[in-house]
Amino acid sequence: MRGAVLHAPRDVRVEDRPDPTIEKPTDAVIRLAATCVCGSDLWPYRGIEPISGPTPMGHEYVGVVEEVGHQVTTLTPGQFVVGSFFASDNTCEICQAGHQSRCVHAELMGAIGTQSQYARIPLADGTLVATPEMPSEDLVPSLLAASDVLGTGWFAAVAAEAGPGKTVAVVGDGAVGLLGVLAAQQLGAERIVIFSRHESRQALARQFGATDIITSRGDDGVAEIKELTNGLGAHSVIEAVGTQESMMQAIRATRPGGHVGYVGVSHDVSLPGGELFFSAVHLHGGPAPVRRFLPDLIDRIYTRRIDPGRVFDLTLPLQQAAEGYQAMDQRRATKVLLTV
Ligand SMILES: [Zn+2]
Repeated sequence: MRGAVLHAPRDVRVEDRPDPTIEKPTDAVIRLAATCVCGSDLWPYRGIEPISGPTPMGHEYVGVVEEVGHQVTTLTPGQFVVGSFFASDNTCEICQAGHQSRCVHAELMGAIGTQSQYARIPLADGTLVATPEMPSEDLVPSLLAASDVLGTGWFAAVAAEAGPGKTVAVVGDGAVGLLGVLAAQQLGAERIVIFSRHESRQALARQFGATDIITSRGDDGVAEIKELTNGLGAHSVIEAVGTQESMMQAIRATRPGGHVGYVGVSHDVSLPGGELFFSAVHLHGGPAPVRRFLPDLIDRIYTRRIDPGRVFDLTLPLQQAAEGYQAMDQRRATKVLLTV
C-alpha cells in the first residue's frame, strides 16, 4: 500500500509501506476513505519533535472495515467506521469513566500511521464506532473531523464547562479552536469569544457560532476579555495551542472559579504555582477522550445539525501529502484533507 512517511524535517514522502494485517485477534484492518494532516504532525515535520528514523505519519481516519480478528464481535467487513487517535478497549475503569485516551491498554494510532491506504486498528471493538449506514460523500469530511479535531474541540468545551449562561473564550484559531467554538455553541454557551488575527479563520469562527473576536494576544488579549466580562474574565476558556504563552493567556482570561479546558499538546509549558494557586481556576485537559463523544458526534453529523467538515480548506489526494504538510506549515491552509 501507499502511505506518508516522514524521513527528516520537512521531508514527507508517500511511498510503499507493508500492507497491514490482523496481528492480534482484537484487531481490524480498515481501508481508509479519507485522512488528514494534524497541527500536531507539524511538530515533528518542523523538527521540533525529533524522529529516530523514517516515521509513518497520521492518526486521523475514517474508512471501511476490510477484515476483523476472530475476537472482534461488534464489527463486520463493509461497515463504515470512525475511530480516534488512541485505540482503547472502552471497557477498563478509565475508559468506563470516560477517559479513553488514557485507557490502560491505549495504543497511539500515530505509531501506526493512518496517512495511508489501509490501517490496522487495535482493540477494534472498543476503538471504532460504525456509522448507521454508508455515508454520502458530503458527510465524509465531517466524520473525519470527528476523528480528532472535532472530538478534541468538543472535549475542550466540555472540560471548560461551556454551557447556557456562560461566556466561553477560545485561545487558538486552528482547527481545534474553531471546532471548540462549534462545540461551545452546541452546548448552549451564551457568548463565544475567539482570539484570532486571521480573517478567514474569524469568518469560519463566526459561522460556527463565535459572537466576538479579539485580535490582541497575551496580556492585551486578557485585558480585552476582562473588558467584555465586567472585569471578571470568562467562565470557560478553551486552550488549543499548547505553548507557555497560550496556557498563561487561558488561565489569566478565566475568572476565579472558572474552568480551563486545555487540549493544545503541551510543549515546554511550566505553570507558576503561586499564580495558579491564587487564580482559583479549574484546569482539566490532556489528550481528548474522543471515543467518549463519537456516538453523539456521529449522530449530530448524520442529522446535519453540525457541519464540522467546513474546517478543511484544502483537499488533496494522499499521494500529494507533502504539499498538504507544506500548506499547513506555511499557514496557507488551516486543515488539509487527504482523499484515499
Ligand atoms: Zn480502557
